[in-house]
Amino acid sequence: MSSFKKRIRETHPEDLTGPQMLAARCLAAGIALTAILAGPPSKAAESPEPNRAGAKTQSTFCHAEVIERLRGNVAGHPRAAAVAKEVRAAAQPWLDMSDADLWSLMFGAGIPRSWMVWSNGHCPSCNQNVLMYAWKIDAMNRPYKLMCPHCEELFPKNDFHAFYHSGLDKHGVFQHALADRSLLYNEAHPDLHDPLHQFGVDDGEGYRDGEKTWWFIGTYLIYGQWKQLVLGGIRNLSAAYVATGDSAYAHRAGVLLDRVADLYTTFNFKDQGVMYEGPAHAGYVSTWHDACEETRELALAYDQVRDALQKDKELSVFLSKKAKQFEIDTPKNSPE
Ligand SMILES: [Zn+2]
Repeated sequence: MSSFKKRIRETHPEDLTGPQMLAARCLAAGIALTAILAGPPSKAAESPEPNRAGAKTQSTFCHAEVIERLRGNVAGHPRAAAVAKEVRAAAQPWLDMSDADLWSLMFGAGIPRSWMVWSNGHCPSCNQNVLMYAWKIDAMNRPYKLMCPHCEELFPKNDFHAFYHSGLDKHGVFQHALADRSLLYNEAHPDLHDPLHQFGVDDGEGYRDGEKTWWFIGTYLIYGQWKQLVLGGIRNLSAAYVATGDSAYAHRAGVLLDRVADLYTTFNFKDQGVMYEGPAHAGYVSTWHDACEETRELALAYDQVRDALQKDKELSVFLSKKAKQFEIDTPKNSPE
C-alpha cells in the first residue's frame, strides 16, 4: 500500500491537523475528501460487486457504506462538519443557477483555445508586460473578460457573449459563419468613426494589431469558461452531494456532465489549440497534461453522483427536452 493510501486509511476526522484539513479542502471533489470524511473503510466496503456482465452497477468510490460513514462523521465531528460547510459554500453559485443556464455553460470546439494570451506579451492599454498566465480571469464575476494585472483594464472590449450567442447553430454549438459580425466593436467606442472602435476586439481568433496577437477569448475559454465554470461546477457540485446527500447538487452536476459528454469528444487540442503562439501537441479542451487530470476529475465526479442521477426523473425530462430542441442523437429519455 502506498504511503498516501495508508495515510488516508488511517486518518480519522478528529486527527486532522491544519495542513491536512487544507488538503481535504483542496481535494474536495476527489477521493481524498471521501476518504478523509469517511475515515477508514471496513473490508466489506472495499469494492462494490460488479454485475455478471461486468457493467458498473453502483458508485465505485462512494458506495453506500462509505457514504453512510462520511455523513455520520459530518453529523458527529465538528471539524468534518466545517469541511462539509466549505464544500457546500463552494457549490452555492452553481446551485443558484437554472438548469438551462448550467447547460449553456459548456461550449463547443469551434473557437480556437490558447494556453496563454501572449507568452511574452504586454497589455494593449498600459503597455506593461503581462507574461504567460498573468492575465486575471474571474469567469463567475467577469464573464468573457480578462483583466490586466497592472492597469485593471478588461479585454476583449467587445461583448463576446452576444457575438457567441449569435453564432450558435441548431445543435447549440458556435459556428463562426453564423455569428453576427456587426456585434464586433469596442463597446466603449460604438461610433464607427471613432479611432478606438476596433481597439481590443476579439472575434474568437484573437485581437490583432499588425503583427501582434492577443488570444484573449482563446485563453478565457480554457481558464475561465472551462476550468472555472464548467469543470469547477462539476467538481464542487459533486463534492457537495457526497458531503450532504442533497440530490439538488447531484442534479446540477448531472446537467453539466451530460452537456460535457455531448461535446467532449469533439475537442482535440492538437488541431484546435495554440501553445506558445504555435502549434499544440495533444489534449482535449486543455493541453495534454491538464486534460489527463480533467478527464480523471470528470470520471470521478460522475462516480460520486451516479446513484442520485439514476433516480432523477426530472433530469431525464430536462435532458430529453434539450436533446429534441438541439437535435442531439441520444434521446436521453431514461436515466440509463
Ligand atoms: Zn494594462
